[in-house]
Amino acid sequence: MTASLKPPKRVLFAGLFHETHSFVDGSTGPSAFSLLEGDAMLGCQGDSSPMGGALAAAQGFGWHVIPALDMRAMPSGLVEDSVFEFFWIGLNRAIESLQGHSVDAVFLVLHGAMVTNALEDVEGELLNRLRALPGFATVPVFGVFDLHANFTAAMARGSDCLVAYRENPHTDAREAAVRAASLLERCLQTGVVPKTFWAHSSILWAPTATATADEPMYSLLALARSLEEENEDIWCVNVVAGFSFADTPDTGVSFTVTTSGPQAEALEILEDISLKAWEDREVGNVVDLPAEDVVAWAMQNPVPGLTVFAEPSDNIGGGAPGDGTGLLRVFLSLNLQSAAIAIADPAAVAHLEALSNGHPPRSGPVRARISVGGRGSRMDAGPVELDVELVSLSDGHFELADKNSHLASVSGDFFEMGPSAVVRHEGITILLTTRPTPPMDLAQWTSQGLAPAAFSYLGVKAAVAHRRAYEPIAIRMLKVETPGPCSSRLRSLPFSKVRRPIFPLDDGGRTTPSKNRETI
Ligand SMILES: [Zn+2]
Repeated sequence: MTASLKPPKRVLFAGLFHETHSFVDGSTGPSAFSLLEGDAMLGCQGDSSPMGGALAAAQGFGWHVIPALDMRAMPSGLVEDSVFEFFWIGLNRAIESLQGHSVDAVFLVLHGAMVTNALEDVEGELLNRLRALPGFATVPVFGVFDLHANFTAAMARGSDCLVAYRENPHTDAREAAVRAASLLERCLQTGVVPKTFWAHSSILWAPTATATADEPMYSLLALARSLEEENEDIWCVNVVAGFSFADTPDTGVSFTVTTSGPQAEALEILEDISLKAWEDREVGNVVDLPAEDVVAWAMQNPVPGLTVFAEPSDNIGGGAPGDGTGLLRVFLSLNLQSAAIAIADPAAVAHLEALSNGHPPRSGPVRARISVGGRGSRMDAGPVELDVELVSLSDGHFELADKNSHLASVSGDFFEMGPSAVVRHEGITILLTTRPTPPMDLAQWTSQGLAPAAFSYLGVKAAVAHRRAYEPIAIRMLKVETPGPCSSRLRSLPFSKVRRPIFPLDDGGRTTPSKNRETI
């Protein structure tokens, strides 16, 4: 007896991943992206990335994977159009190589908050173009995306089932990709292709308010899980927190329901969950206290040991330049003693290197007047002129003290701050680096001969990501508000494109969530 073997399902894989920050200056070009094309993509099968997880699942399901290309970059400013066109050409090249053979499905690994000069909804444009290709109008399109996406009608219309991460910090990115692949397998096995419905909540929450262990996200995610469980027709309910620093018409908190059941049921679910978000909107409107007040309070209430001030407005891991002067200015104006802060400033480092002929000071201190920071964001007050004493110069190379940190997952065992200098101005020590360095590893300081725990005060440019490194050495951790592109005070940001009215930018008038509902 011969078993009838079904041919393996042919699934086209592609990845395009960038969280675009509209309020930082400078653009993101092709060189910022890592690129894997064709079979090279298969190398990440099994690793901890979403693509790695999806490819491992594909192998488990016995799919015939057609790898197109995978492009990823760290969060940064507006992406150049050529990046998306490069991706689109690469995807077409992979499709042309099929020589007319059809695919059974497409699997995409997306971020969902990518913006280029010309395109406010890159993922929606990608799906529109894909659907317009011969043979792709009805091919199941599944995939995974970051919960900080700004989901759109075009994304809902052009995809069949996109699955969002459920954890922030994103410990489940790979797991979400595997879940999305499992849902595609369900589609391929049953022949049932679900539909996705979407609703915008008319709410913006800053990233600091989107931790999934805390409200308002915690309850929304719990509601999504119970909605999925109580109805077999529902394939997936996504809570999409949005990325409030990408200024687009659809920026903000939204929800999707993917279902093979009736449309009315999906719309009712969207209405219920949007209403819940609206009721909790103030809970997510987290604004830190002004740096002047927080630092002054800390000085009046001293503790034995280190106080860490986190400056989310200049959050390097969120795409900010790391050269903001807001907290430094407060340190200076309050004449803080035993304080340290790191500022990314290649020009200041180069100036100091030139002064000392590239050698560390040997005999007597080198003194200089330098201009520090304040160039990376139009929201900053500008460079601070300072008389400093040069303490040391280095190449900025360090080995990570914590090989399991988020930084390690991005950079490996080593990090390059680029040429760096330590300078001192009265009681304040400033580590000047060439590259912005996310404050996720204490070796940033120890490699420069500085013991971070020996300071009384230390400023870090992060919102949440610094906790793992600094909590063990700090007596207390305080968040401060300063002007900057990653400010949680959303009203301070120059939004021009987001659809109005939206909370918390606009007063009064409850916006009815259903008005923004997209029925497809
Ligand atoms: Zn994210």
